[in-house]
Amino acid sequence: MNYQYWEPQAETMPRAELEALQLRKLKEEIGFALRTPFYRKRLTQAGITGTDAITSLDDLRHIPLTTKNDLREGFPYGFLSIPLKDVVRLHASSGTTGVPTTIYFSRDDIKRWANNMARCIFGTGCTKDDVFQNMISYGLFTGGLGFHQGGEEVGMLVIPTGAGNTARQFKLMEDFGTTVLHATPSFLLHLESKMKESGVKRENLIIKRAFAGAEPYSEDTRRRIEKLLNIDVFNSYGLSEMNGPSVAFECQCKDGMHIWEDSYIAEIINPDTLEPVKDGGIGELVLTILCREATPILRYRTRDLTGFYTEPCPCGRTHRRLRRITGRSDDMLIINGVNVFPSQIEEVIMGMKEVGNNYLIVVEKDGALDRLTVKTEVNTDIFMDDARPLNTLKEKIAKALQVSISINPRVELHENGSLPVSEGKAVRVQDIRPKDV
Ligand code: AMP
Ligand code: ZN
Repeated sequence: MNYQYWEPQAETMPRAELEALQLRKLKEEIGFALRTPFYRKRLTQAGITGTDAITSLDDLRHIPLTTKNDLREGFPYGFLSIPLKDVVRLHASSGTTGVPTTIYFSRDDIKRWANNMARCIFGTGCTKDDVFQNMISYGLFTGGLGFHQGGEEVGMLVIPTGAGNTARQFKLMEDFGTTVLHATPSFLLHLESKMKESGVKRENLIIKRAFAGAEPYSEDTRRRIEKLLNIDVFNSYGLSEMNGPSVAFECQCKDGMHIWEDSYIAEIINPDTLEPVKDGGIGELVLTILCREATPILRYRTRDLTGFYTEPCPCGRTHRRLRRITGRSDDMLIINGVNVFPSQIEEVIMGMKEVGNNYLIVVEKDGALDRLTVKTEVNTDIFMDDARPLNTLKEKIAKALQVSISINPRVELHENGSLPVSEGKAVRVQDIRPKDV
């Protein structure tokens, strides 16, 4: 195969050189971190008061781990290391409760991110001749703008459609000769299922590739999408705390995602003991960002379970490959690509006096897409045979949840004491989506 590299030297750099670069950038990043209120305190407590405290990559283990909760507690500016006047953008993701995790970017941070994204896109074989339809949410979520910038950097024609609206997506694909798509894997499957009713014929489309990420999916699902749409699908991994997409991406070999190790230091730890996992083993991915000055984050617990491939990739890149994410070490749900913590739902419904004590969160498949149903008991003051107050309450809950988690759930109200109560620890979440779809 003819492999193409966006930055040949950086992508195929010998490991020793790559590690020396990581050390240099790590020291620089610690310098940024020491300017933030959060890390000044945290690092000083760990005995790290200057960049000289780190002399090798092994010293990384002296740096304490950072969690989503730390980011939440540092909200809004506890992790900001540059003056606000030098910040040009922010992105945010859901926290375990209503407080989001917020990331700030300087102009150079955005440039570095766009470059990394271009590296990912170009590495799949795309060129400036491509027409790229970005079918993922824009806004605070990083997927939209992240890919948008990268696509422009490569020189593709970018169509910023955003998520949803299958009929319009098909129309745009036909009108502009779209060759590359980006979406969640479930939306790609959904799209295919709607093709017939939209009246569009596959032979009138010239799509060749799709980038799919933001939620877990199996190899079987990839193959299914590839077969149904007759395209190549590339796995894309990222998280907003680490910029968003462009952390790790599949190359033309489509076998594991290269993590850009000149921009991130990746570790795999045992989520219970927090000890390192031997090379090749599965554990929780911990990331240190090396390409952002405005919001340095060191040793971030992603909660994503994965491991490294031990074999080098035939494409010649020296940056290691991550396995498909197999799950999470916390209770975060990903519903149509949107992150939801059960605690966020609990916070909303338990704050309403009309709601009883028991609730159940059900996530299932509705065709190719995910569906969230929130079942709650109502307080004894409301009569179950009076439809009006019940409908008002349903709407109130749905609206409040939409504001909090950006998902419109189905709400079911149940009589007080009628939802199943488990002995011991309550089981509040039923995720009944098939595991391999
Ligand atoms: P966000 O911060 O909203 O971008 O969400 C990031 C999370 O989405 C990650 O921590 C993963 O749990 C999940 N995610 C993103 N990309 C993938 C992928 N390709 N496979 C599995 N999970 C993914
Ligand atoms: Zn490769």
